[in-house]
Amino acid sequence: MTQSIKIEAALFRHLLDNSVTPLVGSAIGGLLLVLAHMNSPYQQQVLIWLIFLFFTVLVRALLTQRYKSRYKSKDYERADAMKYAISTGISGLAWGLGGLFIIDASPIVLVVTITAVQAMIMGGALTLAAYMPSFYAFSLPAIVPLVATLAFKGGTSNIILAIFSAIFFLLIISIAKRFNQSLKTGWQLTFDKEQLLKELTKANDYQKALANTDGLTGIANRRRFDDVLANELARVSRTTSPLSLLIIDVDHFKKFNDNYGHVAGDECLKKIAQILSQHFCRASDMAARYGGEEFAVIMPNTDEQGAIQRAELIQREIAALKILHAHSPTAEHITLSIGIVSLCNSDIRDTKNLIAIADKCLYQAKAQGRNRVISTRLAPSMQPDLVAL
Ligand code: GH3
Ligand code: MG
Ligand code: MG
Repeated sequence: MTQSIKIEAALFRHLLDNSVTPLVGSAIGGLLLVLAHMNSPYQQQVLIWLIFLFFTVLVRALLTQRYKSRYKSKDYERADAMKYAISTGISGLAWGLGGLFIIDASPIVLVVTITAVQAMIMGGALTLAAYMPSFYAFSLPAIVPLVATLAFKGGTSNIILAIFSAIFFLLIISIAKRFNQSLKTGWQLTFDKEQLLKELTKANDYQKALANTDGLTGIANRRRFDDVLANELARVSRTTSPLSLLIIDVDHFKKFNDNYGHVAGDECLKKIAQILSQHFCRASDMAARYGGEEFAVIMPNTDEQGAIQRAELIQREIAALKILHAHSPTAEHITLSIGIVSLCNSDIRDTKNLIAIADKCLYQAKAQGRNRVISTRLAPSMQPDLVAL
């Protein structure tokens, strides 16, 4: 939906929401006109006219209700607004007919009729002008017969009244246009604000994602890892579900860089990150670049055995890539050493302690010749400094 259609729809809804006052005004105005005609020769015709006027009020009230409930679930349609404008046109026509009864009327009937028609048009400028076709559809058939009858009656005072009524109508048109414009501007500002808010939220989300993402590999960065690990550790202390942490280090990566260059080193890190994000894509798992050539994986609800299986799977996947590392003292291709710590119901509250334990396992994996997985499981309520590796 374009902005201009959105504004048109909002104005039409405004018109529907404010339609009670003009309808009640029209009904009361009609009754007053009938009262003014108590002793006039048109008494009977005026009563028939009142029935017609009430009929138009009823039709408009029903249409208003129908469109109000329809627009709760459906998009705006211009054809509906046009139909509504036609119904206000019939109302305007009723008031135009009411103006014809001044042909042989007494001065009091004349004054009441002119005042009533002008009041209806004035009311229209404040309500129907939300949708200008509705305003014109109502006001033109309402005022033209009155002005024409006054002019037709002749006589200086009637001609003056006709001129004044015409000038009054022109003034009301300019008021209606201003009112319509101010409503349009109001809605324009509202929609612009909504759009701005959407763009700001998007930019904000993007900034947040950037702040949590590693620039080289596109996976979570250290900052995000720290946050998630702190949350998971707090969760583990409240529940009985296990948690495993993997620290992954590329073996002899300095030699890889020294021999194949930093760009090739970066590409290798990206491939490892890709494999990690493919294999740790459960909503709860999280793979992150811990720093340099080290990665970390948080695996909630995973015990030691489960974590070892996944770690070995990652090693196999990396081996399958066959990234040549001719200068590695321990293998022909790129390999990973992985340290794992698993815990359940542990007293550990500090993430640094947990990382230190996983690091110790990693150190052991390196010491035992690299390209291997070493794990440890913390028994419930075990203090970190008592853990012997
Ligand atoms: P080890 O098997 O004991 O882990 O040996 P290593 O050479 O992998 O470990 P070391 O800590 O001596 O060297 C890590 C190297 O990782 C140093 C640096 O050249 C490389 N490195 C760290 N960050 C990046 C990076 O963002 N891009 C590239 N290309 N290399 C990096
Ligand atoms: Mg390292
Ligand atoms: Mg290394």
